[in-house]
Amino acid sequence: MQRLFIHIAELGGLHTGHAPLRGKELAHWPHLRNAWLLTNHDRIAAFGAMADLTPALQQQADEVVDVAGGLLLPGFIDAHTHLVHAGSREHEFLMKLQGATYASIAAAGGGILSTAKAVQTASEDELCTLAYKRLQQAIGQGTVGFEIKSGYGLTVADELKMLRVIQRLQQMVSVPIKASLLGAHAIPPNYNTRRKEWVQIVVQELLPAAAEAGLADYVDVFCEEGFFSIDDMLAIMAAGKKHGLAARVHVNQLTDSGAVEAAIAAGACTVDHLEQMTDKTIQQLALADTIGVLLPTAAWFLRLPFPPVRQLISAGAAIALASDFNPGSSPSSNMHWVLALACVQMKMTPAEAWNAASFNAACSLGWQHELGSIAIGKKASFIVSRPMPSLEYWPYAFGSNHIAQVYVNGQLA
Ligand SMILES: [Zn+2]
Repeated sequence: MQRLFIHIAELGGLHTGHAPLRGKELAHWPHLRNAWLLTNHDRIAAFGAMADLTPALQQQADEVVDVAGGLLLPGFIDAHTHLVHAGSREHEFLMKLQGATYASIAAAGGGILSTAKAVQTASEDELCTLAYKRLQQAIGQGTVGFEIKSGYGLTVADELKMLRVIQRLQQMVSVPIKASLLGAHAIPPNYNTRRKEWVQIVVQELLPAAAEAGLADYVDVFCEEGFFSIDDMLAIMAAGKKHGLAARVHVNQLTDSGAVEAAIAAGACTVDHLEQMTDKTIQQLALADTIGVLLPTAAWFLRLPFPPVRQLISAGAAIALASDFNPGSSPSSNMHWVLALACVQMKMTPAEAWNAASFNAACSLGWQHELGSIAIGKKASFIVSRPMPSLEYWPYAFGSNHIAQVYVNGQLA
């Protein structure tokens, strides 16, 4: 099955390399104006300028899609989500708007623990149905690859249940998904004064069981004051390494405690959040292979400072953008809002933001040979927009639905 897309106002993100874009490269946006693109089954087969489109090629295609002045761009890769969860927390949202503090909400049984309770109560089937709907919605919004974390189980059995849900989702949808074991997300209430014991259980029971069953691709840790320490993180990363699992870790969201340096030194694949960074930490990240995953919607929703993205880019750090989709601090998988905030609040250019949310995000998950850019031989997983003048228009005209169609592996999603 060959499908020919014609009259593409801008065919963008034509990257052919396989290393994350850093520094000035991140603003590089190879593109063709007034273009066509041909897919063959699930792959991108060819593209070129409309002026060079031959009648033979048009006749050869099984279907011709007239994009009519829209853009054709690589789909988003969401490299940090908590998409498997139960319940929602809009009542806490209201409490916070009316002046309640994080501590008072937690004391009333809210926060992560309320989501954990809902996840523990829900069956695997129920979690799967909820997550499948969220995935379908996110795909409709242009996301064509996902990382999904466990972390709301807070018991060995419930963490494994969450990971099995992710495994079922991998079989239910045609977009790729990678799973991260976030056994150290919050301290289970019955381990409140015995945090180290829970870390031991994660290391000695949960992680080996998940790895043996092939349920996890990465390990993750919420490393923050009042949650898990740097030593906890390093113990879990070391155990992950023993089982062949690389690390993506939550660090420097609330404090700069040295977690980024420690995670880099221990070979983390990604360090996520990075709202609190010093010049020294930025330089260290710039020298590392580790990719920084920034989550602007979470910073915005919690009214926290945004990560120092301009400094990270000028230092040469590799960065990606993700949604952090979760019921507490970022109850949305909408990457368009991530992009708009990245531009308006963090002063990224639209090209930098799109590259970070597609190509660099794909690199962070090892998908750079299959996804993340428009290149011959890659998966035909892309977004076709409504007619618009340029890439810059997209985040500028925030809040509108710019998507006309989303294709996953050459099929209309
Ligand atoms: Zn997160």
